[in-house]
Amino acid sequence: MSKKKVVLNFPPHLIDQPITYRLIAEQGLKVNILRARITPKEWGNMVAELNGDKARMEAGLCFLADLGVEVEFLAEEVKWREERCIHCTACLTPCPTRALHVDRATMTVGFDEEKCIACELCLRVCPYQAVEIAAEK
Ligand code: SF4
Ligand code: SF4
Repeated sequence: MSKKKVVLNFPPHLIDQPITYRLIAEQGLKVNILRARITPKEWGNMVAELNGDKARMEAGLCFLADLGVEVEFLAEEVKWREERCIHCTACLTPCPTRALHVDRATMTVGFDEEKCIACELCLRVCPYQAVEIAAEK
């Protein structure tokens, strides 16, 4: 099985097309939508996790490219190194899913792995490298 976290960027003429449905029904991929922003007549984007065997994954990505959907690949996994974190909260604003959050009572930062979409925005702001891309297994 192959798993990829991707950002799918849909040009305006495709945003009302059932592309996610076709990825599932015609290409045989499992699509777990993590976040989506679609505005009529503008570009839309979706963060999703795609699952399928290697052949289906390749075919599904070709299907998207042929349609004109731009695909950006995200890191598979982000790790939070609690021992390096000084709880400065600089990463909270860029984190789109609140995977990085603060306990207001103690003002300590925490990380919810389940909510993380591996967009890497926190990596750019953390001054202590407390968030990093997990090494490939
Ligand atoms: S990579 Fe960082 S900014 Fe992006 S969702 Fe995960 S914790 Fe939040
Ligand atoms: S930016 Fe880095 S050091 Fe600051 S709270 Fe976030 S993870 Fe911790």
